[in-house]
Amino acid sequence: MSSNLARTQALQTISQRAPMDLGKTEPLSKIWACDVFNLARMEESLSKNAFKAMKKTFQTGAPLDPATADVVAAAMKEWAMSKGAKFFSHIFYPMTNATAEKHDGFIITSPEGNAITDFSGSLLIKGEPDGSSFPNGSIRATNSARGYTAWDPTSPAYIMHTPNGATLMIPCVFLSWTGESLDKKIPLLRSNTAMNSAAQRVLKLMGETDIATLNSSCGAEQEYFLIDEAYAVARPDIMLSGRTLFGAAPAKGQQFDDHYFGAIPERVQVFMQDIEDKLYRLGIPAKTHHNEVAPGQFEIAPYFEAANVAADHQQLLMTVMKMTAKNHGFMCLLHEKPFAGVNGSGKHVNWSVGNSTQGNLLDPGHTPEENLHFLAFCGAVIRGVHLYGPLLRAVIASASNDHRLGANEAPPAILSVYLGDQLEQVFNDIKAGKILKTEKGGNMDLGLSQILHFERDPGDRNRTSPFAFTGNRFEFRAVGSSQSVSGPLVAMNTMLADSLNWIADKLETELSSGKDVTSATLTVLKVVMEQHGNVVFGGNGYSPEWHKAAVAERGLKNLPTSADALPELLSQEVSGLFERTGVLTPTELHSRFEVYAEQYINSIDVEAKLMVNMATTMIYPAAVTYLSELAATAGNLQELGITLDNSVATSVATEANALMVAVGKLSEARAKHDFDSIQDHMTFLAGTVRGLMTEVRAHADTLETLIADEIWPLPKYSEMLFIK
Ligand code: ADP
Ligand code: MG
Repeated sequence: MSSNLARTQALQTISQRAPMDLGKTEPLSKIWACDVFNLARMEESLSKNAFKAMKKTFQTGAPLDPATADVVAAAMKEWAMSKGAKFFSHIFYPMTNATAEKHDGFIITSPEGNAITDFSGSLLIKGEPDGSSFPNGSIRATNSARGYTAWDPTSPAYIMHTPNGATLMIPCVFLSWTGESLDKKIPLLRSNTAMNSAAQRVLKLMGETDIATLNSSCGAEQEYFLIDEAYAVARPDIMLSGRTLFGAAPAKGQQFDDHYFGAIPERVQVFMQDIEDKLYRLGIPAKTHHNEVAPGQFEIAPYFEAANVAADHQQLLMTVMKMTAKNHGFMCLLHEKPFAGVNGSGKHVNWSVGNSTQGNLLDPGHTPEENLHFLAFCGAVIRGVHLYGPLLRAVIASASNDHRLGANEAPPAILSVYLGDQLEQVFNDIKAGKILKTEKGGNMDLGLSQILHFERDPGDRNRTSPFAFTGNRFEFRAVGSSQSVSGPLVAMNTMLADSLNWIADKLETELSSGKDVTSATLTVLKVVMEQHGNVVFGGNGYSPEWHKAAVAERGLKNLPTSADALPELLSQEVSGLFERTGVLTPTELHSRFEVYAEQYINSIDVEAKLMVNMATTMIYPAAVTYLSELAATAGNLQELGITLDNSVATSVATEANALMVAVGKLSEARAKHDFDSIQDHMTFLAGTVRGLMTEVRAHADTLETLIADEIWPLPKYSEMLFIK
C-alpha cells in the first residue's frame, strides 16, 4: 500500500517539462500600452475640448463634467470594440487584497430584435454591485446591500485578454449607498488630496508662488516564489492557504547563497519574458527582475508611477503573474512565508512626493543642508513615523506577514527610520542647533584600474530597517508580498499630510515673529528632532539589543503580531489623524479594523483546520503504513532468526502518537468560541493556536525524516524549491 500516488505523479509530470514556446516576440515600440486607453489614445479619439478636460482631470484630479464623460464613454467603447471587446467591467479594490469585477455586455437589443451596442457616460461613471457581498465591517447589513462603483478617471482603462475574450476594464472606487468607502482606492485618493493641500501650505510659507498639484509616487518591488504546479496540486496546504503547513528542512537550503542574483533557470526566464510582455501591453513599466535570496524565489520591480496608478497596476501585476504562471506549469506563490526556515517574500514600497514645479521633494540633491524643501519634507516623514509607527505596523498586519516580521530575515516589527550617515548627521546638527557642511561620499577607489571610478552614495544601505531613506525616496520594506500597496501608501501620505500641517502651523508662528524662511524652518525642524529624533536608527534592526533598547530607551512600540498591531487602528491618535485629514471617518476606520481582524481570524482558523485534516488523513496514515511494513518485515525476519533493530519503529510510533495528541489539542482550541472581544480572539490565535500549530508541525516534520521516502505523501521542500 503506497500513499504517495499524487507525489509520484507530480514527479513524472515535472520530468517532462520544457520551457514554453512563446513564438515570435514583438518589439516594445509596437506593444507598449497597446491595450490601454491612455492620454495618447484619448488625444487621437476625443475632441480638443474633451481631451483638454480629461487631461486636466488625469493630471490634477479636477472634476469632470457629465457631458465629457459621455464623449469619453463613446470613444472608449469604439476603441475597446475595435480590439475585440464585447464586455466591459468596473474593476474595484475591496478591503481584501484582491480585486473585484462585475462584467456587463455592451450589447442591448432593439425593439426589432437586432443587437446594438450601448455604453453611455452614466454606465461608465456608475455601477451597482451588491455592497453586502464584500467585507464592510458592519457598515452594511446584509439586507441593505446597495453599493456603487464609480469610475476613477485618473487611472486609465485597459483591455484584459483572457481565454474568454477581451474585456474593457474600468478602474473604479467602491462605496456604500450611505457614502462610506468600502474599498482601498477612496482613502488613497483622499490621502493624496490631504498631502497635496498640506504640502501646498508649507511650500507657500517657504516662499514658493508657482506650485503645481503634488502627487505621491510608488515603485513596488514584488518578491515571489515559483514552484511547479504539479507539486502544488499535490499539497492541499498550498492550494488552500498559499503556504506549506508541513515540511522538513531540505539538506540543501539557501545556506550557500548561490541563488541570489544567480543565473535564472530557463523555464523561469521564459515565464518572466512572458509576464513582461503582458505587462508592457497593459502599460505597466516592468523594469528589473532577478533571483532572490531563497531558492525558487524571484523579484520583479516596475518603474515607479503616480501612487494611485501604481496601486492599480500592482494589483494587476499580481493577477497577471498568477495567471501566466499557470500557463507555464508553475504556481506563483505570493504568500509572505510559503516555506518555513526559508527566506520570506516582501513587497518593498518605494515612496516619494513631488510635482512638476518643485520636483521630487524627497530628493536632497548634493547639499541636503542647503535644501530647505527637502529638509522640511524629510523632517515631516521622521515626525510621522515616530507618531504613527503603530499605524504603519497595523497597515501591514496580516496572519501571513506575521511570519516574516520580527523573524531574523525581515524588517523588525518595530518601526524606526534609517537615514544614512550623511543625513543623520545633518538632522543631528539641526537638533544641536548647528549646521555644518556635510561630508561628501567622496570618490570610491576600488583599486582596480579597469573599473571606472564612481561617486559613492552618501549613505550605505541598511537591509535591516523597516523604513529606509534610499537616496531620493523612502522604502517601506516591511510590507508583505501578498498585500495591496494602498494601505501603506494611505498611511504614509496621511502621516505626511499631518506632519506638514503641523510644520505649516509652526512656520506661521516663526515667520510672524520676524524670522526669515531659513531660520524659521531650522527652528521648527529642531523641535521635530527633539521630539521625534528617537525614531531615527542606523544600526542593526535584527539585533536583540535593538529590540530591547527600542522599547526601553526610545519608547518605540514593538508589535510582534497582528493581534498586537491591528487594535492600534482604534487608538485615539490614529482615529484623530484620519478624521483631521479627512481620509477616513471613524466609522470607516472602525469597519477596517473589523474587516482586517476577521481576515486574520479566518485565515488562522482555516490553516488550523487544514492542519488537523492533513495530519489526520495524510501524515498519520503514512506513519501507520510504514509501521505496518516495518512490523511485517520484522516478523518475517524473526522467523528467519534475524532480529531487526526496532528503534526506527519506536521513534515513528512515538512521534505518530505525539502528533495525534497535539492534533487533539489543536482541535480543542479551535472549538473555543467564547471570547469577550475580537481582540481576545486574535490574541488567543496568535498565542495558543499558533503555538499548537508549531507543535503539530514539529512532530509531522520529524516523521518526514523517519518515514520511507516512497511512502511520504507530500512533495518535499527539496523537490519543490529547486525548479527544473
Ligand atoms: P533596489 O532593489 O535597489 O531597492 P529596485 O530598482 O529593485 O531597487 O527598485 C527600486 C524601486 O524604486 C523601483 O520601482 C523604482 O522605480 C522606484 N523608485 C525610484 N525613484 C522613486 C521615487 N522617487 N519614488 C518612488 N519610487 C521610486
Ligand atoms: Mg529595494
